[in-house]
This record gives sequence, structure tokens and C-alpha cells, in this order.
Amino acid sequence: MISLVNSADSALRTRAQRVIPGGLWGHMNAANLPEGYPQYFAHANGCRLTDVDGRSFVDLMCAWGPIILGHRNPLVEAAVHEQSMQGDCMNGPGPILVELAELVVDMVPHADWCLFGKNGTDATTSCVTIARAGTGRRKVLVARGAYHGAVPWCSPSVAGVTEEDRAHLLHYRYNDLASVDAAMERAGADLAAIVVSAFRHDFGFTQELPTPEFAHHLRSVCDATGAALVVDDVRAGFRLDLRGSWERLGVRPDLSAWSKAIANGYALSAVTGRDWLRQAATEIFTTGSFWCSAVSMAAAVATLTELRRLDAPAHMRLMGERLRQGLAERAAHHGLAITQTGPVQMPTLLFQDDPEWQKGSAFCAETLRHGAYLHPKHNMFLSCAHTAADIDAVLDAADAGFRFIAR
Ligand SMILES: *Cc1c(COP(=O)(O)O)cnc(C)c1O
Repeated sequence: MISLVNSADSALRTRAQRVIPGGLWGHMNAANLPEGYPQYFAHANGCRLTDVDGRSFVDLMCAWGPIILGHRNPLVEAAVHEQSMQGDCMNGPGPILVELAELVVDMVPHADWCLFGKNGTDATTSCVTIARAGTGRRKVLVARGAYHGAVPWCSPSVAGVTEEDRAHLLHYRYNDLASVDAAMERAGADLAAIVVSAFRHDFGFTQELPTPEFAHHLRSVCDATGAALVVDDVRAGFRLDLRGSWERLGVRPDLSAWSKAIANGYALSAVTGRDWLRQAATEIFTTGSFWCSAVSMAAAVATLTELRRLDAPAHMRLMGERLRQGLAERAAHHGLAITQTGPVQMPTLLFQDDPEWQKGSAFCAETLRHGAYLHPKHNMFLSCAHTAADIDAVLDAADAGFRFIAR
């Protein structure tokens, strides 16, 4: 094991402490990493990631979601190269904008139109704004503990956030119909939208798929009140179903927010919506200096086209099942009680009786030393670049991790 004290990673962390508050912001802050995890990476290819100290890992985080075809996918990189030779940030979009919008509207059944931004937060925030503009109402229901982005209306931190920023938010519990009805009651005639994640993927907790009753209930109460149903598909979008994560449930949202995997690592997000909100989406003012940049749109067209050709969700499901079954067998072999939840393409592994994630963190640290990058609290991500051999390499590394915990 490389001594972290003299590593290139620790030298960068030391320099960063002087010029970057806390060394790094948000979810990538070192405080959130298990012991021995690198913070800085040198390069990545396919499902392999190499840190600045030359250690290489099979990657099960996929940049926390954006990487879906694999790092530096050749088709995406070729499209990026070609577009960047033409122009990226110009006085307006390139023709690729229309091509991309046509592709998204074609792929996503509920989408009558779409618009693009850079980050998932842009998309979720635009959804809320469009729903309010379209209904002329203010109240928005969100699930308690759900993540929808990093601006005051939805940030997980209260630092710098005022009560007024969240004055019109009401909370329900995921999959709990009675809590939805109670929040609806409080919203009264002022309900603009219900925002819901594709599944319950809260940090550090057992993941929950939406029950059909829950999904259909949200749809019917929105229909009854004229509020917009907003599915936040930023994290799960294109991994579970290329048509949108709730399509299999037979529930179509009025608005959906997308980002992470849409352009295989290039900065892009999308809002898709139905016709009744087209006028509202026209009236709101939403834009950004870089929102019309052509390169990430070219990356998105290449990514979505390839995801379709590969039937990407099916491949990731197969690899995810292999991973889930292999982890269950190996944990059992070592006499360890683990809980695996979430869709297999986006698995979460927690140890039982591990409220502070100490076992999970020690397991991940040991697994990392054997060449696989897992996460002890957050859901992980499969990609199309993971082969059966890569999953088996992860399982071998995890076996070492389990053995360490069992001792
Ligand atoms: C990541 C995420 C967001 C925010 O996306 P950013 O690109 O980080 O702004 C919103 N919703 C969900 C469910 C996410 O996972």
C-alpha cells in the first residue's frame, strides 16, 4: 500500500487546503472518503480509473453517474473532437441542438419538447419554475431527505439558506401514500408540483424502488389537482430505461429532469415536458453562458445513439445481477450480513448493524487496495464498459474486503 503521507495525492490535498475552502467542495470533500481513498485522478479508460499515484481500479462509481458508456468512449470522443473543430461556444447553438432535441423527444415517450442546461440542478430548478409558471401556484411537494441539487431551495445543507428559500416546500415520505395526502392537504389549492426521484436513493440508506401504488397515486393526485408530476431522473436516467425510469411503471410525468449520464461525462442536462407546459417553458427565463455549447450536445447525441444501439440498460442489468449475486455469495461465505438494495444497475451495499458505516468504510478501503473502487454509503453505478471479467475482478477484490471485515 502506498503511504498516503508521501503520496502525490496528499501533496495536492495540502496545496488545495491553502487555496480551496475545505480542500474541495460538496460530495467530493475528503471528509466523505474512506481511509486511503484518492481524491485526485490522473486518467481513466473504459471502466478503469488511475489515481495520481499510479494505482489503478475497476471503477464502480462512474464519476458518480455521468460515465455510462465507459470513460473516454471512442465514439463519444470522436463526436466531441469533430464538433470542437467546428466550434463549441458560439453566439448561438449549432445545428446539433435541434438534432439532440429531436433525438430526446423521440426516445422519451412523455416528451413533447425538451430544453437543455448544464447541471442536474439547472434541470430540477427549471422543472419547479415551469410548474409554478404553468399552474400559477406555489407549493411543491418533495420527499424528505431526497437530493435534487445544490442550490438553496433543495441543498442538503442549511448553511446560507433562508427559511424563505424553502417557504413553499412541503414534505412527504417516499412510497408513503398517506404522507402524500397529508402534504397535499396542507398545499390545498396552491399545489404546483410533486417532485419525486426515480427511486429512493438517499445517501447512506437502504434504497427503495417506487411501488406501483405510489407512482400511480402521484399521477392521479396530480391529474385531479392540475399539478405537475416531476420525475427527477437526473441520477437514474438512461441506466434503468432509455424511455425514462417510470415508463415501466406505466406512469408518465409532466416534466422530467435529466443529466448525469446523458453525455457520458460532458456537461449537459435536460428538461423534458408535456405540451400543456410548453407555454410556461416558453415564458420562464432560463439560460446560462454555456448552455448552448455544441460540444457537450455532440457528446449527448453520440451517447444516446450508442446507448440505444447497445440496449444499454439490459447490459448493465446483466452485469449488475452478476455483481449482486457474487457479493451476496462472498459475504455469506465470510459469515457477514450485508444488505444490497436499489436497481442492480445502481447498487447500494450496506453492512447490517453498521449505523456509522464503519464496517462499510473499512471494507471499501480494503477492497480498494485490491483494485476496485466502491462506495460505502452512496449508490454505485454500472456502465456499458463493465464486462463479466471486470465484475469478477471486483468480486475478487471485494472478497479480500470481506475477509478483512470477518477477521
Ligand atoms: C446529482 C443529482 C442532482 C443534481 O445534479 P447536478 O448535476 O449535480 O447539479 C439532482 N437530482 C438528483 C437525483 C441527482 O442525483
